[in-house]
Amino acid sequence: IAQIDPMEYLSLYDLLTPEELEVRKAVEAFVQKEVAPKINDYVEAAQFPTEIVNAVKPLKLFHHFLNKPYGHGTSYTKQGVILMEAARADAGFATFIAVQNLLLNYTLEKFGNATQKQKYLTKTRDVEYIGGWGLTERGYGSDASSLTANVKKVQGGYILNGDKRWIGNGNKDVLIVWARNLDTNKVEGFIVETKWPGYHAEVIQGKLALRIVQNCQITFTNIFIPDENKLESVTDFQNGPNQVLMHSRVIVPWIALGVMRGVYEHSLKWTTSRKQFGKYLASFQLQQERLVRILSTFQASFLMVLRLSRLAAEGKATIGMISSVKAWVTDKTREVARLGREMLGGDGIISDNYVIKALTDAEVLYTYEGTYDINSLVAGREITGIGAFK
Ligand code: FAD
Repeated sequence: IAQIDPMEYLSLYDLLTPEELEVRKAVEAFVQKEVAPKINDYVEAAQFPTEIVNAVKPLKLFHHFLNKPYGHGTSYTKQGVILMEAARADAGFATFIAVQNLLLNYTLEKFGNATQKQKYLTKTRDVEYIGGWGLTERGYGSDASSLTANVKKVQGGYILNGDKRWIGNGNKDVLIVWARNLDTNKVEGFIVETKWPGYHAEVIQGKLALRIVQNCQITFTNIFIPDENKLESVTDFQNGPNQVLMHSRVIVPWIALGVMRGVYEHSLKWTTSRKQFGKYLASFQLQQERLVRILSTFQASFLMVLRLSRLAAEGKATIGMISSVKAWVTDKTREVARLGREMLGGDGIISDNYVIKALTDAEVLYTYEGTYDINSLVAGREITGIGAFK
């Protein structure tokens, strides 16, 4: 029975450049060989997939997320297709890549000086160091700009105190910390090494989505940060973490596309190989409607996300456009995941069949990088001129 590639079906590959096509194909080959067959053992154990991450190193995959001279040269779409392919196997694996690159490495590239880039970015790019990006706190999620982690200037550096919550890779090597300077009341950025005294990270337990991502509750107790680890070009929340989020929110919806595509593939495969009432499940009208709805939702979302990525590359994507696409596409991913789950019946709750992971992981895509509500309100503010929050 034919297995239609949802990208080929509407000639969506034709919309990608030769370089984007080449990178996508290489990542697809790696992911299908090295990630898809192995990742679910880590998912079930909620463990970081060290073996798989080590296999990424020789590919120099993370060089694709950076401009020259630190990387191969990059674009929103190139980064997007890498994440889409990773998410076809596991949205947690894609999220690990996103945290390391869209958040940590992008911050170092954008706000770091030459010495900081040499010391940290060359290592985080080559996966010698793994790290995270700490904005959210226990008391400040959606209202992130009110954060209370703080630094006080002392001789030769700063003293950091406070907490961070939900921080992916927060128990690895290095962390970007966004903290309020008690002297100026402005949000500033710092590169913190997790081995420094006063750093304490606990992996959040009981997390039933993005299982392989090690999300941490972190406390900082009188950590001394030397002057040279301050991101000097950050001036405040707007010209700091907000710039990073404007960038990452363009690319994160590609993870959602990967999840939709993964659901489509697993649902199609299942319904064209399992029989009930003497016929393939795919021969029943209800199942065909669901398959077509998943296919079309993926394609519509792809076109929207690609358009946003191209506009962002031209400097024409506004904050409202970015937020509305992120909100809409991640909302649709929840719907697609639920449809796929239904189509597999009882086997739809087994991790190897993907769709149950898609269902729970979609809940995080909907929530992180700004919740559906907050992104809708950001877009709503832009199209009405009326702020409905804050
Ligand atoms: P809250 O802000 O408490 O919101 C709860 C509910 O209230 C939501 O539905 C929200 O939409 C709604 N709400 C809040 N304010 C309003 C309003 N004004 N109007 C209408 N509705 C409103 N953060 C990092 O810094 N680094 C990370 O690496 C990171 N990784 C994450 C990974 C995971 C798995 C998760 C779950 C989160 C991660 N986050 C990370 C944090 C994430 O960005 C926050 O969870 C998110 O911003 C929402 O904050 P909150 O969870 O505190 O929810």
